[in-house]
Amino acid sequence: MKLQDQLPAYAPESYHDFTKPENKTAMETAIAKIRSTFNTKYSNWIDGKPAHSDKYFNSLNPSNTSEVIGSFPLGTIDQANEAVESAWKAFQSWSKTTPEHRAGILLKAASLMKARRHEFSAMMILEAGKNFAEAEADTAEAIDFMEFYAREVLRYAEPSNLYQMPGEKDEMFYIPIGVVIVIPPWNFPCAILAGMTVAALVTGNSVVLKPASDTPAIGYMVAELLYEAGFPHGVLNFLAGSGGTIGDTLVSHPKTRMIAFTGSLDVGLRINEMAAKVHPGQIWLKRLIAELGGKDAIVVNHDADLEAAAQGIVASAFGFQGQKCSACSRAILHKDIYDTVLARVVELTNKLTIGNSAENPNMGPVSSERAMKTILNYIEIGKTEGRLMTGGVRTSETGYFIAPTVIADIKPGAVIEQEEIFGPVLAVIKADSFDHALEIANGTKYGLTGAVYSKNPEILDRARNEYFVGNLYLNRKCTGAMVGSHPFGGFNMSGTDSKAGGKDYLLLFLQAKSVATKL
Ligand code: NAP
Ligand code: MG
Repeated sequence: MKLQDQLPAYAPESYHDFTKPENKTAMETAIAKIRSTFNTKYSNWIDGKPAHSDKYFNSLNPSNTSEVIGSFPLGTIDQANEAVESAWKAFQSWSKTTPEHRAGILLKAASLMKARRHEFSAMMILEAGKNFAEAEADTAEAIDFMEFYAREVLRYAEPSNLYQMPGEKDEMFYIPIGVVIVIPPWNFPCAILAGMTVAALVTGNSVVLKPASDTPAIGYMVAELLYEAGFPHGVLNFLAGSGGTIGDTLVSHPKTRMIAFTGSLDVGLRINEMAAKVHPGQIWLKRLIAELGGKDAIVVNHDADLEAAAQGIVASAFGFQGQKCSACSRAILHKDIYDTVLARVVELTNKLTIGNSAENPNMGPVSSERAMKTILNYIEIGKTEGRLMTGGVRTSETGYFIAPTVIADIKPGAVIEQEEIFGPVLAVIKADSFDHALEIANGTKYGLTGAVYSKNPEILDRARNEYFVGNLYLNRKCTGAMVGSHPFGGFNMSGTDSKAGGKDYLLLFLQAKSVATKL
């Protein structure tokens, strides 16, 4: 029986309720286990061999910066070149394996991650500052990507339904493209890293994976799991190091065929430019997936369920400290309900707990000292642009804690209304009408996520047609995209709209070959 006929239909992972003592204890046990691995000296993996370096960098716990998760070799330019060469060499045989073989390995990886899901979540609690539910959502999304793409690669392997020219057999099939450089961000350091990596591997490509420098340990755990599941070592090369140092080499290498990047607009623009240049020996145009920043807004019309809207705004603005590309950083409120919704948003914000992520507060720390400084700087700008309602300060010196911050009366075009802050800062803006609200919502260079709250079907219909974002949510929060249900990717400067977790995604890692045989 064919593998696809044996597989149950795709369905997302379910989550644990961490208010139940047994679930909380299970996570705490996993946290203790990960803690016992602290201070490990890790290696990179190139061509199946551990690769070390003269220089190492530390990954710290942002909740308590005296804790070192581990130290990682700073990959060098020479190693970046070696990693691409290794991937190219491995591609020659890996690209000839069958989709069924690769899907089987990916399904094994999914089952291994399911069995150890709390350990992956625990690492993100400690390395990225996620609370239990946020960390589990990240792990679950990684598993969902694996299950979904394993099925998808089998679907792409089905024969194409072509018009058969008389006297011919006409076929088209999908083949891998080559070496893919995978460069993920630190904010979904398991899901996005795993999603881009396994999409490349399962389609028969080889990979050089460069994890974000704030979260290399969870990236290493994913790579180890993929090796254990059966992806060959040279096919997946793991190279931690500074993006600023080795990024250009990986992107520019003539044997690099594709770059799958998720991160900031500035770095994405640089990669886009670098990838466009053809180098000696290069015989293709490089492909680029670049999923970038956002300045996402929730619009509340006067006829909305105001309590649901306020809850949705606070959850979207402050979940994982606002460090999601999908986070609500602008609440655009109709003037008739502005004061009511603003007051409720502030009230709900003031109830949020903030503290060490291992104690499962509502909010943990921001990712790094650099991020903290940038966010605090934006808050200072915001205070001059509007009315600080709550927050605005660092709350503890033990880690990078910033109080959830609401700044009201922000005018369209203000700095904190236009620029991605990537932290727990919400700008609240008054709109004269729904038209005005839409104009403000669409008035940035980004177009990632957005939400509209209204009870009027005509208003919702207008949002469906006129709100220019890759992921629109009606009467619900604007975060929490699910694999298979909410294919994810943004418009305009938010990226290439690759729609991760959707049915078009694997096509980006494949090329189609058409064969006509005269009968
Ligand atoms: P970032 O600073 O752009 O870093 C992303 C990755 O790029 C890291 O691995 C980084 O390595 C690497 N990098 C840095 N400079 C490079 C260069 N010159 N060449 C190649 N790679 C380089 O972004 P981040 O702070 O990790 O992530 C936050 C951003 O990601 C936000 O803007 C957020 O909106 C965006 N994001 C978008 C999506 C989406 O789906 N649209 C999802 C999640 C996040 P180092 O860590 O070593 O610098
Ligand atoms: Mg860290």
